[in-house]
Amino acid sequence: MTIFEKIIARQIPAKIVWEDEDAIAFHDVDPQAPVHVLIVPKKAIPRLTDATDEDAALLGKLLLVARNVAKELELSSGYRVVINCGPDAGESVPHLHVHLLGKRALAWPPG
Ligand code: AMP
Repeated sequence: MTIFEKIIARQIPAKIVWEDEDAIAFHDVDPQAPVHVLIVPKKAIPRLTDATDEDAALLGKLLLVARNVAKELELSSGYRVVINCGPDAGESVPHLHVHLLGKRALAWPPG
């Protein structure tokens, strides 16, 4: 079980901001911005590379959840949505997740 599956199963705590039958959103334990929320599908897709055409609706939903959480947390001056995929991107938890970062100016290009 990945750490995110343990959060979904309530085996370890998290600051959950939203949940339904398909996905969960909770605050990152090591925030890289004043708002740093992870949006995680309950289906255990390791990373974007492993998603299939059957996951199209779920993948779209993750972005719409990011939009909704951004609105809920009042990220009115902007936000960034990130998926780290594989070692070069710094992926550390092998369960697909979307980072939502906001409440500060974010540099581009990323490091
Ligand atoms: P990534 O590097 O894209 O795989 O992102 C994994 C993220 O999960 C990192 O930003 C971690 O800080 C975060 N993380 C790891 N463990 C936990 C946890 N128990 N609760 C919340 N976030 C976590």
